[in-house]
Amino acid sequence: MTEATPPARDSDQAAQFRLLADNVPVLIAVFEAGESRCVFANRQYARCFGRSEDEVLGLHFADIIGAEAAREIGPHVQRVLHEQVSVHYERRLDDGSGAPPRWLDVNLIPHLDGQGRVVSTFVLISDVTRFREAERLVRESEERLAKFMQASVEGIVFHRDGRVTDANPPVCELVGYRLEELVGRDTLSLIAPDQRDRVGAVMRAGAELRYETAVLHKNGERIPVEFIVRTLRRNGEKLRMTIVRDIREQLAAHERIHHLAHHDSLTGLLNRNTFMERLRERLASGERSLALLFVDLDNFKRVNDSLGHLAGDQVLRAVAERLSACLREGDLVARFGGDEFVVLLEGVSAAEDAQVVVNALLRVVEVPVQADGRDLSVTPSIGVALHPEHGHSPEQLLQHADTAMYLAKAAGRATYRFFEHEMAATAYADLVLESELAQAITAGEFVLHYQPQVDARSGALCGAEALLRWQHPRRGLLSPEAFIEVAERHRLMLPLGEWVMQEAARQSRRWHESGLAPVPLAVNLSSMQFRLASFARSVAQVLQRAGVPGAWLELELTERMLTDDIEALPELLQSLRALGVGISIDDFGTGYTALAHLTRLPLDKLKIDQSFVAGLPDERGALAITRAMVQMGKDLGLRVSAEGVRNADQQRLLAGWGCDELQGEFIAAPMSAADFEDWVRVRAPASAGS
Ligand code: C2E
Ligand code: MG
Ligand code: MG
Repeated sequence: MTEATPPARDSDQAAQFRLLADNVPVLIAVFEAGESRCVFANRQYARCFGRSEDEVLGLHFADIIGAEAAREIGPHVQRVLHEQVSVHYERRLDDGSGAPPRWLDVNLIPHLDGQGRVVSTFVLISDVTRFREAERLVRESEERLAKFMQASVEGIVFHRDGRVTDANPPVCELVGYRLEELVGRDTLSLIAPDQRDRVGAVMRAGAELRYETAVLHKNGERIPVEFIVRTLRRNGEKLRMTIVRDIREQLAAHERIHHLAHHDSLTGLLNRNTFMERLRERLASGERSLALLFVDLDNFKRVNDSLGHLAGDQVLRAVAERLSACLREGDLVARFGGDEFVVLLEGVSAAEDAQVVVNALLRVVEVPVQADGRDLSVTPSIGVALHPEHGHSPEQLLQHADTAMYLAKAAGRATYRFFEHEMAATAYADLVLESELAQAITAGEFVLHYQPQVDARSGALCGAEALLRWQHPRRGLLSPEAFIEVAERHRLMLPLGEWVMQEAARQSRRWHESGLAPVPLAVNLSSMQFRLASFARSVAQVLQRAGVPGAWLELELTERMLTDDIEALPELLQSLRALGVGISIDDFGTGYTALAHLTRLPLDKLKIDQSFVAGLPDERGALAITRAMVQMGKDLGLRVSAEGVRNADQQRLLAGWGCDELQGEFIAAPMSAADFEDWVRVRAPASAGS
């Protein structure tokens, strides 16, 4: 039985072998050693070369794999045959079709007979294209990462087990080490000492996050940075990647923004909001014995208007520096805007303590400032409110210091006032008045009264002064002194002054239409109006709208308005006169006009202030001065008018000295438009033209 079975067993085994060979993922072939002809090939092998298993049998290996490939692997085959050893190599298979190449892992194994001669060669080939492809991808991704790292402007550092493994140029630059010095270094040694615990904890936890910390430069400098940390897996290992961002500039910008939000950009002092906040904190913490100083520069507007804002800014900066220099630690100084500064003194238990500082501030601010190539002096007016005597809230203290400051201004400037409770009443009355005034303009509560001006010798009417009155709903008819100061302070004199000019011009027109001979109407100006760049234009407009010639209008300026530094004052006066409008100086003698200055200006009339006239005829001083003023006016070629003439003696004296015009109760008190018309018709029916 056993004898009969071998062939069957052989063919059985061959079939089993074939089954196995055809189903392993390996290419298998056997070549006999002598002529290198194929004696066995599994299906995969034959297919790989585009044939069937049967077709390849008996073929020379060069016919199967091609002459070129055969040449290439010839040396391997020779080694197997002559050295009787297994040979392993890898081969790239490129079919030239443009498809990706395939990679074959080849093992040539010699089959030896009993004498150790090679009878055949086993060829075992695995297709390793997939592995090679995977390797290629990994390699490429590493290359990409390396390139990315090199090109990145952000710092990137890799570290493993607490040691640096790689870093890009920005990191090297940031910490001041070369790459060779960095690699292998303890990661935490590059972190600022105060941050090591925290960074160490993040590293140990393998956390992935973004946080701000600081690194340590080689030179010891602490550099604030932002870290973005991630854990990567590479070759089965955990690698930490940290993106390092230098945030010094960002922090500096934040700081700048923070500073800007809390400080005045021109002077660097605290701004209003921050100052008030700090003051509130101080008061809330129970601090006592504080003094609040409200410092306002006198005539600062003049510096700005005449020398420009650059010079003005220089002055403000100098003042800010000087104020700061006078203060002690714990004191605060702020600029509230414009030329207003506020100072908080601490530990001031009595007014005398504050007084010392106030005096020092007055002195240092007064010292001339070099600006625009010249020495400019400004003086401050200072109001002081004490805590707790004068108020408990920041607003109250500030308001009271402000009130006191106003009184310092009123007292002639360059001085100070301490708040007193009686001041508050005045300030309150002002406040009420201000809001009533604003409404009175729209409610039409203002009227003009007219006071005649007559020729000193003939007594003929030669003009009238329009004087403002407020028909107050509760308080009756108010004269200017009751409200004009408040109106000026709150800039209400602008609309009000405009209304006065319009109303006077319209009244001229009405009288003319009702047959009265034209008389020039004089209106008083406030310096605020006069300073408007558009002033001459608005006068022209008023005349045009009312349809009256310029000669029917006269403008009364005070000496102060002429000494105030108004750019192009002569030009302004010229353009007014070009309209035919007359210009007089009101209240002459009460200001400090340099006479030389007057002679250069195009003026028409001097109005001698009533305080001089009041001294006539008995006071020797008044006599001398009034007569001299009349004389001087005449010498300058101006018309001279005297105000406040109350009796015949005064009239006689003034007329005798050559005074041209008179105005005062002796002639007539100011009266309503209707009364004025009657007065004219009764007194001078001829000139009334009826
Ligand atoms: P002023 O321009 O010097 O006006 C003359 C003031 O003297 C007027 O006072 C007038 O009523 C008063 N007066 C005239 N004759 C006599 C007199 O014989 N005895 C006395 N005791 N007083 C006399 P009023 O109307 O109260 O005006 C006061 C000041 O108010 C004016 O002084 C002027 O500076 C200002 N003012 C009046 N109206 C206006 C206006 O429309 N605009 C501006 N900006 N100021 C005005
Ligand atoms: Mg006047
Ligand atoms: Mg006057």
